Amino acid sequence: MKNHAAIFLKSQPCILCKCTNFQQIHQKDKWRYLRCRNCSLVSLYPRPTELSLINNYQDYLPDQVLYIYKWRKMMQPLIDHSADLIEKTVFTKNKNLLDIGCGFGFFLKTMQDRNWHVSGIEIADTGRHFAQEKLGLNVYSQPLAELDFKAHSFDVVTLFYVIEHVTDPPALLKQIHKILKPGGLLLLRWPHSTPIIKILGPFAENLDLYHTPYHLYDFSPATIKFLLNNCGFSQIKTIPGGYTLPDERFRRWSSIISGSCANMLFKITKGRYLLPGTSKTTLSIKP
Ligand SMILES: [Zn+2]
Repeated sequence: MKNHAAIFLKSQPCILCKCTNFQQIHQKDKWRYLRCRNCSLVSLYPRPTELSLINNYQDYLPDQVLYIYKWRKMMQPLIDHSADLIEKTVFTKNKNLLDIGCGFGFFLKTMQDRNWHVSGIEIADTGRHFAQEKLGLNVYSQPLAELDFKAHSFDVVTLFYVIEHVTDPPALLKQIHKILKPGGLLLLRWPHSTPIIKILGPFAENLDLYHTPYHLYDFSPATIKFLLNNCGFSQIKTIPGGYTLPDERFRRWSSIISGSCANMLFKITKGRYLLPGTSKTTLSIKP
């Protein structure tokens, strides 16, 4: 249900610009997605607590082997594309990479096979146990703030579909900034659902593109740039995220068609047009 009236939330200002004036763009049960009238960031209200989120994520990833391998098949194009992108951008001898929210660890395994020294963070037991026991990876269970990595430890930090789930993205990005080496790369992959929800109007209510209440924010190329700039990153570049291969045929073809269209439009406009509503990849550098 759309509500164009201004909503004022003095106790919970926008995390990016501190504005307290919002417009409702989507509602599911008690959860409302509100757009900041100043910077346009879309945020979930009421905001779940950190503890309730950690408990929810224990059931977030499937634990049956068949589903885990379907997951790998779905993510493989994204994994390969991101690995190529990183190796085209970063030239380093040590090749230390941290993947935050690494899930089952398939991206880390790909990078390890390409001779990177890899570590992951995964709070969901199913994903972490698989990555540790089946893939033999080094994966931590604690959030980044509780791990005492030294400053300038990593050449690359990656977050695939994580930044929209984090309660305090600016705080996390400042921690990442600290552990990256100067010249280090941060790669974010994120969904961009609000334009589709706006186009679909009332039809969007059943699709649950925000994965309510898991997506605490829905970023846009402008708000992600604002966020990264505020946290000390530079050379911020957002590109189409390509496609994934979900098992279900309709979702698979939707992803292939929308991802390919986004790539084509980006290419023919020489990088000026980013198709709204499709997942994006953002690269940025710690100066
Ligand atoms: Zn704002």
